[in-house]
Amino acid sequence: MTQQRMQFQAEVSRLLDIVVHSLYSEKEIFLRELISNASDACDKLRYEALTQPELVGADGDFKIKISVDKNARTLTISDNGIGMDRDELIENLGTIARSGTSTFLEKLGESKKPDINFIGQFGVGFYSAFMVAQTVEVTSRKAGHDEAFCWTSDGKGEFSVEEDDKSSRGTDVTIYLKQGEDEFLDIERLRFIINRYSDHIALPIILEGSDQPVNQASALWMRPKNEIKLDQYQEFYHHVAHAFDEQALTIHWKAEGKIEYAGLLFVPGMKPLDLFDPKRQHGVKLYVKRVFITDHADGLVPPYLRFLRGVIDSEDLPLNVSREMLQHNPMLAKIRQGITRRVLGDLNKFAEQLDAYAKFWENFGIVLKEGLYEDTDNRPDLLKLLRSRSSQCDALVSLEDYVGRMKEGQDAIFYITGENADKLAHNPHLEGFKERGVEVLLLTDAVDDFWPTAVGEYHGKVFKSVTRAGQDLGKIKSTNDAETKTDKADETQAGDLDSLIALMKLELGETVKDVRPSERLTSSPVCLVADDGDIDIHLERFLKQHNQIRTPSKRILELNPKHLLIRKMAARAKASGAVDGLKNIAWLLFDQARLMDGETLSDPMAFGEKLNEVLAKVV
Ligand code: ADP
Repeated sequence: MTQQRMQFQAEVSRLLDIVVHSLYSEKEIFLRELISNASDACDKLRYEALTQPELVGADGDFKIKISVDKNARTLTISDNGIGMDRDELIENLGTIARSGTSTFLEKLGESKKPDINFIGQFGVGFYSAFMVAQTVEVTSRKAGHDEAFCWTSDGKGEFSVEEDDKSSRGTDVTIYLKQGEDEFLDIERLRFIINRYSDHIALPIILEGSDQPVNQASALWMRPKNEIKLDQYQEFYHHVAHAFDEQALTIHWKAEGKIEYAGLLFVPGMKPLDLFDPKRQHGVKLYVKRVFITDHADGLVPPYLRFLRGVIDSEDLPLNVSREMLQHNPMLAKIRQGITRRVLGDLNKFAEQLDAYAKFWENFGIVLKEGLYEDTDNRPDLLKLLRSRSSQCDALVSLEDYVGRMKEGQDAIFYITGENADKLAHNPHLEGFKERGVEVLLLTDAVDDFWPTAVGEYHGKVFKSVTRAGQDLGKIKSTNDAETKTDKADETQAGDLDSLIALMKLELGETVKDVRPSERLTSSPVCLVADDGDIDIHLERFLKQHNQIRTPSKRILELNPKHLLIRKMAARAKASGAVDGLKNIAWLLFDQARLMDGETLSDPMAFGEKLNEVLAKVV
């Protein structure tokens, strides 16, 4: 077969453009990316060889070799890993399979200085070679195959593939350096770069002219903690997570006893792009006795900890465990319990660093909350980690803070759910709570509609949505008694309100479940609340948006007896009965309450007409 020329996928061309022109300030990291790929290729073959030892044969010492040719001005990174056949060369080096790539690139292209932290997650790895290369040649022979192929490109839209006579297994990546990049021909410079970025690689990296590996060539997670420097952890994090940011937390431990494993896990400093992917896959690699098994061991990490990146290396799992059978291995469930407990414990300690934890919570709180209803065993620990905005302070509050501040007579943890904490803080439902100095948690994640009912209580205090009836605020003392007394004088006489309530019930009919006086309102005239057994208002809206609910439940309309408008209406109702003006206002108030909850008007035309009639009378 002769040489075949092909076009890069459009996304690859764009990515190449971005990588070459604007991305990295430190060009030298291309070497780390290529070494990282070589190491992955060896890991993959080692795994395949567990069941097919003939793939490795006599060449069982996995290593990475780096050589230079000063005359040709080339640098070559060689591995004896799994290699690629013709189709894989085309597929792996000519396309990007990850979903969402093109929308992502569009966004990146718009910004002047694209964020390297994001682009790293898209696996630019190999393409970073073009920062220093005029031409890149990838010669590869796949394990178990007789033929080899050579892929060549100058990174400008096209690449070519042809047969090659490479006799050994694995891949050679040869970089023809651009003018001015001669530093990468200097062995000492290369040694420095490898030490800096690739020391954690568990395979020997051999520089031309020496038999001794440049790196320690032992798995970082197996080394004692006190021998590992911070930047070694950071480099390893970049390697396993395909990330460029700084990890928020490093968790490194060895479990000894009945089950033995080493864990080196990282909480990323920023949200991974696939955090909300419906598959909810985690990013922790599973090794068995230093042999890489899989990136996606189902059941190794609970889905609500899927933001974790890193490695678990088990001493107990059988080496010949197939990826498919893993899930049913009881050992795996034990390791998951161990990981979960360790991570939740370390997060709890981390929470003492208020600012760093607030950042963590902003990134991953929403995911962690999924655990509140999925993982009943660890619920107490998850509740300890929970943070929320509140009606009383700007900083995030914990449930412990909240309970410590509860008022005399208060027996519940009050919360309200919605999209935006600032808007929630001004919701009429909170008025009575504010007046009594009762704190309300402002919950703004979609999961917040579910976990409080599933969890039920914290230290004996039930979670109660303020949009429910029967809050019995009367039991809680108001912060300012004197004020309440003067208010009492202004309050509508009970008998007066009865006529108004009767009139409104009759007029609104089946639209509402009931009309009642309110204890929760102080400045708004009305609000809608859910009856005790009924579905929460915000949850209902969420389910409606997801087509889970057709007929909405009826709500209770609460009237504020202290409000001037209600007082006037009550007096009018008592004196003259159901006059038309009052009927119109009843509907307008009902609609107003809906609007306050972020609902839309059910009949905007009718609303307009009624409003106009009422306004016409006062002009
Ligand atoms: P990533 O490593 O994030 O997947 P890269 O662009 O670095 O992205 O590499 C693309 C793919 O090319 C890899 O996933 C791998 O399948 C293949 N590849 C790259 N280098 C090698 C190598 N040295 N040996 C075998 N396969 C490789």
